[in-house]
Amino acid sequence: VKIGILGAGQLGRMLALAGARLGIQCACYDQSPDACAGQVAPLTVGGWMDLERLDAFAAGVDVVTYEFENVPVEAAEHVARRVPVYPPPGALRVCQDRLEEKTLFRKLGAETPAFEAVGTLDELRGALERVGLPAVVKTRRDGYDGKGQAVVRHGSEAAGVWERLGGGAGAGRTPLIVEAFVAFEREVSIIAVAGRDGSRAFYPLTENRHEGGILRVSRAPAGGGGGGGGGLQRTAEALAGRALGAMNYVGVLAIELFEVRGHLLCNEMAPRVHNSGHWTIEGSATSQFENHIRAVAGLPLGSTAMAAEGACAGMVNLIGTAPALERLCGVKGVSVHMYGKEPRAGRKIGHVSAVAASPGLLGARLAEVQGLLGA
Ligand code: AMP
Repeated sequence: VKIGILGAGQLGRMLALAGARLGIQCACYDQSPDACAGQVAPLTVGGWMDLERLDAFAAGVDVVTYEFENVPVEAAEHVARRVPVYPPPGALRVCQDRLEEKTLFRKLGAETPAFEAVGTLDELRGALERVGLPAVVKTRRDGYDGKGQAVVRHGSEAAGVWERLGGGAGAGRTPLIVEAFVAFEREVSIIAVAGRDGSRAFYPLTENRHEGGILRVSRAPAGGGGGGGGGLQRTAEALAGRALGAMNYVGVLAIELFEVRGHLLCNEMAPRVHNSGHWTIEGSATSQFENHIRAVAGLPLGSTAMAAEGACAGMVNLIGTAPALERLCGVKGVSVHMYGKEPRAGRKIGHVSAVAASPGLLGARLAEVQGLLGA
């Protein structure tokens, strides 16, 4: 099998590396000739709506997937007329729009923060009153890493936020969604995978700490009771299972959740491998990348259990400036992953992961890495 990946960032790079280990070749497609997966797999450079280039790309592979959720749905649908595309383009459509995502969560019986879509400044003012303050106003589409959103604490801020986010329906304007601000205890995510034969597997819940809207540190398992025992884990798996079913899903799906007083509120989902699952490379029997490759290639899924029974695992993102590799590589018990990207403020250029026999030991290893990065 040869797998085509739309998008050639670090997620594509780690997918291609996982494929290579199984003897499955991946080829990537991206708008940028510098996309970092191009260092480890053949890269076709073309626009997302360059249908001829996409046709030529699809002709060279057996199946296509994506690592970037803002691939235009029309492009994915076009490719799907030539070769199978997993996850199905319909899943891409839902995950590209925060309103559709939250509507699906509700339909599946899951909890979400209160939300309302708004198309005019008056609707925004009304929604802020109904949803209550503080609230978070987000662009329905194209937001990532905390971009395209603003917290509103006073009604008087509505007009400013409307302008700043470019709210509205006309040319150059963008539809918005208003959500209640959730005073969560922590953020967690569930990574699920569905095979072509309908089989499913779920990784242990991961706890995620964000700063400035960007993921900094993840730790797992975070569901209580280890591998699959805790109530939170069961709730998250049931929800993710319903989402997989509703979207006829094949591949890895990540759902980000807020934990509040024992409840899980759905924030958003990503139809792809996810930053909060990078720890699975060393921490799990089968990584999220390998399981995505297996799913898309029609192979049996691998175990999502921790690599060692009772172990825990975590990850620290490397953001912005290049770390001193000679020091980072000197930290005992951690694995360093660099993405081959040019350092730039706010850019994810690598991650460091650790596996440990206890949460305390894991915390100490991650703290040592963070100390080095801060130094
Ligand atoms: P998102 O792009 O929706 O993942 O939002 C980025 C980050 O902003 C989240 O990881 C949260 O830390 C925070 N955030 C987003 N939505 C809310 C909300 N409704 N209430 C509180 N914090 C939020």
